[in-house]
Amino acid sequence: MSGIYIHVPFCKNICYYCDFHFSLALANIDNVLNAMLLELKLRASYLPDNKIGTIYFGGGTPSLLSSKQLMFFFDAIYQHFSVADNAEISLEANPDDLSYGYLKSLSATPINRLSVGIQSFNNLSLKLMNRRHDAETAKASLADCFDAGFSNISADIIYGMPGSGAETLCSDLDIISSFPVKHISAYSLTIEKRTAYNKFVKEGRIILPTEDNIIGQQAFLEDYLSNTGFNRYEVSNYALPGYHSKHNSNYWNSLPYLGIGPSAHSFCGSSRRWNISHNLKYMQYINSGQQYWEQEDLSLSDIYNEYIFTRLRTVWGADSNFISSRFGQVYEQYFTVSAQKYIASGHLEKQESVYKLTDKGFYIADGIASELFYVS
Ligand code: SF4
Repeated sequence: MSGIYIHVPFCKNICYYCDFHFSLALANIDNVLNAMLLELKLRASYLPDNKIGTIYFGGGTPSLLSSKQLMFFFDAIYQHFSVADNAEISLEANPDDLSYGYLKSLSATPINRLSVGIQSFNNLSLKLMNRRHDAETAKASLADCFDAGFSNISADIIYGMPGSGAETLCSDLDIISSFPVKHISAYSLTIEKRTAYNKFVKEGRIILPTEDNIIGQQAFLEDYLSNTGFNRYEVSNYALPGYHSKHNSNYWNSLPYLGIGPSAHSFCGSSRRWNISHNLKYMQYINSGQQYWEQEDLSLSDIYNEYIFTRLRTVWGADSNFISSRFGQVYEQYFTVSAQKYIASGHLEKQESVYKLTDKGFYIADGIASELFYVS
């Protein structure tokens, strides 16, 4: 089964660490949404099969949309695709949007999973991120999600903030654990080029924690969550049994997905496509029948490298039997020989034909994957 990703490219303000595509020009929402609905219709036959197992509203800030606006998307999706009865349907939401009334209106839509951008319960950290909510709002929003009838809730947190340490992380995790959240995405702060933080770091206005501090926070996170029943199933994602994100797992398992909206990416099994990251141009091009995307046809090496990159970040690991049957013996041999040094160093472990990162390996997952890439 395939997935549909809907990118809602609007936010109310700029978080200092964020490099996602979004616009603050909220007056354009309706026009851009209409163009996105047109894109859904135009691309009804993009996927190899039109059976949909997951739908994900990401952004940007999807919780800016009213339930009525969200229902326009469901009407279009249900009209053009065959959505599984048990489909996982997620919406990313910011705490300051989640009033009880709004949540009740969402509970009348097909959405059955909320991913709440908590980031921290520390007011100083929230201010340093330029988030719009404070700790009390974050707590109230989680409580309201459950009261409004949602049970499948994920919370996003960011650790490694300036001035942070294992104690600040512990405090955030203690508060999250007081709610019955089923999934936690925990990201270490990374400084992306096109962000305010990049400028602040260069100007010396913020000082990041040392590498040892970050490694200490990661180790603490891993211990804390495994002691409270959460399993790490991807470098930054933890879930109670049965509650991993099916949508994101499908990305990591190379299943096809259709991405709708400015900057959204799509994958049909043999090529990738990405939409223009500009709301007005996206709208103008779609409405006038011009091309609004770029596309890359993937070679066998590209597909192998993506398999290695995504699978090694997960608990499912990379399977040499699969590599042999999908890519051929040359790739399988290249993989098993290249992986040996990481098995010897304790970063990878082998269980039958499956190679998985150890706890030590998870810290340098991307570096290991890139060493195993096939360069022809
Ligand atoms: S983190 Fe989310 S809410 Fe903040 S600017 Fe980025 S997309 Fe918008």
